[in-house]
Amino acid sequence: MNTPFPHFDGHEMSAAAAIAAVEAYPANAATPPIFQTSLFTFDNFADMADVYAGRSHRLIYSRGDNPTVMEFERLMAALDGAEAARAFSSGMGAIAATVLAFVSAGDRIVTIRHVYSDAYRMFELLLSEFNVTVDYVDGADVDAVAAALPGARLLYLESPSSMVFELQDIAALAQLARENGVVSVLDNSWATPVFQKPIIHGVDLVIHAASKYLGGHSDTVAGIVSGSMEHIARINRRTFPYLGAKLSPFEAWLLIRGLRTLPLRLSHHMKSGVSIAERLKNHPDVRRVFHPIYSNHRGKGTLHGYSGLFSFEVDDAINVPAFVDALRVFRLGVSWGGPESLVVPALAPLQLPEANSFARFGVSARLIRLHIGFEDVDGLWRDLEQALAQGRL
Ligand SMILES: *Cc1c(COP(=O)(O)O)cnc(C)c1O
Repeated sequence: MNTPFPHFDGHEMSAAAAIAAVEAYPANAATPPIFQTSLFTFDNFADMADVYAGRSHRLIYSRGDNPTVMEFERLMAALDGAEAARAFSSGMGAIAATVLAFVSAGDRIVTIRHVYSDAYRMFELLLSEFNVTVDYVDGADVDAVAAALPGARLLYLESPSSMVFELQDIAALAQLARENGVVSVLDNSWATPVFQKPIIHGVDLVIHAASKYLGGHSDTVAGIVSGSMEHIARINRRTFPYLGAKLSPFEAWLLIRGLRTLPLRLSHHMKSGVSIAERLKNHPDVRRVFHPIYSNHRGKGTLHGYSGLFSFEVDDAINVPAFVDALRVFRLGVSWGGPESLVVPALAPLQLPEANSFARFGVSARLIRLHIGFEDVDGLWRDLEQALAQGRL
């Protein structure tokens, strides 16, 4: 195995953040209270008038700020190495609020070809209505991105991408974006701040689908964006209150709980994920394994570990639906990042090109994505082996 083992950068940071937080919680509680309230009342009319006139600040209504949600935002900003963060009720909530805060009618976005499917659909089906154009480039090719950047408003990256696991040289691309006056955004859901901290490498805004590893228990849908005070303030001013995709206090509490075990969970996903990837790579029915461990792209330089999501392409001899249906431990489903192992075939054969970037940009219909959970790794391998054998019939 040609990989460094998990290093605990992120662990130290989250432990420090957790300790700082413990001291702040009422009654020395180890975990924060859940402020399950929609509103906060004023002391009197003058208090209300001062707040509305901007002379003083206080909590008003949980569609804006709520203390439990703010605690999650504070911890995530610390983990990302950012000045500020804003949480949302889904990863798409964070993506929509971020993109719409920086892009206006007639603007142009530069993104990667294999960008997350619902981000692609938002660009194609919603933003096109506002005359926003999108250039899909090969994100692995710095020159291709450089050629597309002049005159663009936003550079939207995802490294590694979450179907074919392509890497981008995020430090170089962030610098190019800055030179061109383009705001850079990176979807870091795959790596999490434990394995990659794009803000430190010059990316302006980092988005996480917290529904995946941050929550980590397949029980929460949430998202978050981190960045400078100035960039987050723009999101707060232009989109956050009006799109209304705010995170609930209880889900913020679940996410805070998730952060406490994030590095430990990721080291397990990494160990089992790499083990299964290696075995698949040596299987005669497997053409190729798409896992960043096999890449020697420069973009690997900012990655300090591997999570448990990757894909592989099967030989023509394998019937993909028969293989998927023969699996007994892996369950068939979208999403990822929880304790259970999942399988999902690339959607290319199932959706129209207008609605699917994977079909449009040539992802093979023989591509199958796996999420490796916490089940016994040898049992997972036996499951894959028997399903490949059955898929051959
Ligand atoms: C799931 C996902 C999202 C969207 O998150 P939701 O919480 O489902 O809205 C964004 N990016 C990536 C890479 C994802 O996997």
